Amino acid sequence: MLSTLKFIFFTTFLLVLMFSAVVVTVLNTYKPTLRVVLNDKFIGYFSNEEEFEDVYNTLVSEKELIDSNVKAYLDAEPVFTTCYIRDNLITSQNVYTSLRAELKTEYTIYNVAINDEKKMIFNSQDEANKYVTNLKKEVPKVKSEVTTEKVSNLGEMTSIEVADNIFKDIVSRNKPVIVIPKVVIPKATTTNETVSVATANVSAAQGGIWPTTARYISSSFGYRGASLHTGIDIAGRSGDPIYAYKSGLVTFSGWGGSYGYMLKVDHGNGITTWYAHCSKLLVNAGDSVEMGQTIAKEGTTGNSTGNHLHFELRINGTAVNPYGYIIGR
Ligand SMILES: [Zn+2]
Repeated sequence: MLSTLKFIFFTTFLLVLMFSAVVVTVLNTYKPTLRVVLNDKFIGYFSNEEEFEDVYNTLVSEKELIDSNVKAYLDAEPVFTTCYIRDNLITSQNVYTSLRAELKTEYTIYNVAINDEKKMIFNSQDEANKYVTNLKKEVPKVKSEVTTEKVSNLGEMTSIEVADNIFKDIVSRNKPVIVIPKVVIPKATTTNETVSVATANVSAAQGGIWPTTARYISSSFGYRGASLHTGIDIAGRSGDPIYAYKSGLVTFSGWGGSYGYMLKVDHGNGITTWYAHCSKLLVNAGDSVEMGQTIAKEGTTGNSTGNHLHFELRINGTAVNPYGYIIGR
């Protein structure tokens, strides 16, 4: 009798022990977790809502690294369901990848539009404003403005180097040109007398004359690749006369490095002309010259590959295309 009781007690004890072991094992293997679904898409299992928030915040910071002004958001509320799943499922999942795919982004980009055509794209408003402000200053007749756009993906932005080149290009194409009244002068010949005739017909306030007898421009004003050719090259022969563009005061006569032997003549009103690569200089600094006066001889001194006159016209120090300022061109 006693042994039977003992047996029942012992068996019960053993069963309870076994049951507890099973419960403990199950609890250890299957954890209560949050199953997260977004837009009917399964995102993953999280221990709690905070853990989901952490993943979400990490992904937002990731986007903010690309553009600090990004608006990152989810377009639906995540749905949390409690369930029991095995541990290894939690560790093997990649919630970052699945949630990243659902994260929506909105970037603000700033276009520089020239005559309603997008020319530059920036993700900084200051950068776009800078170019538009400078364009309005340099070429006020060109319609330039900043337009704002919202995009879901940040495409390629305009680099500063490219933007600077676009800027220079727009300015050089649209720089206002001072209109010089047309003056009828005899057609070009190769004598000095004709130049003097022309001189007599032109008033001092207007443009100047061709500084050479030849009128073939072998290299025009403007960009040669990245560098600006600040004058026009007029082909000629060694020793050909160089004429003063208009009356003025010689401010420099001598060696100008890559310009070779050169002259600078100040014509007043901020207008200066430069004559470079000369073989001979016939006037000195401080001399007054008359329009059409022979002031130097053509050559190929300095950084030059052949006989020609490099002729520059500067308005308040800035080189402009002299061609537009030559009378009877
Ligand atoms: Zn030149």
